[in-house]
Amino acid sequence: MANRKKATTKKKASKKTASKKVPPKSVKSKKCARCLDRKPLDSFGKNSRMKLGRKSYCRDCSRELQREWNKEQRVATKSKKAPARKSKSKAKRR
Ligand SMILES: [Zn+2]
Repeated sequence: MANRKKATTKKKASKKTASKKVPPKSVKSKKCARCLDRKPLDSFGKNSRMKLGRKSYCRDCSRELQREWNKEQRVATKSKKAPARKSKSKAKRR
């Protein structure tokens, strides 16, 4: 009769200290990735995907970016010509 009680206990090597995922609770400000200015979290739009639940750009920058983006889009749309589709090529007549 095999008498093994704790023969195979999976030990998790807890060498890794918890990675720094969680920001300290006291985080109330954030550095904008664009203007590199430190601003209160309120100045950042919400983005649940981000760590802090905020965008990486402050609102001002977001607006700027949005404007630039819009401009580009407009230009892109403008220059985007719908290629004139050739109507049926006339069958050669004899
Ligand atoms: Zn900014």
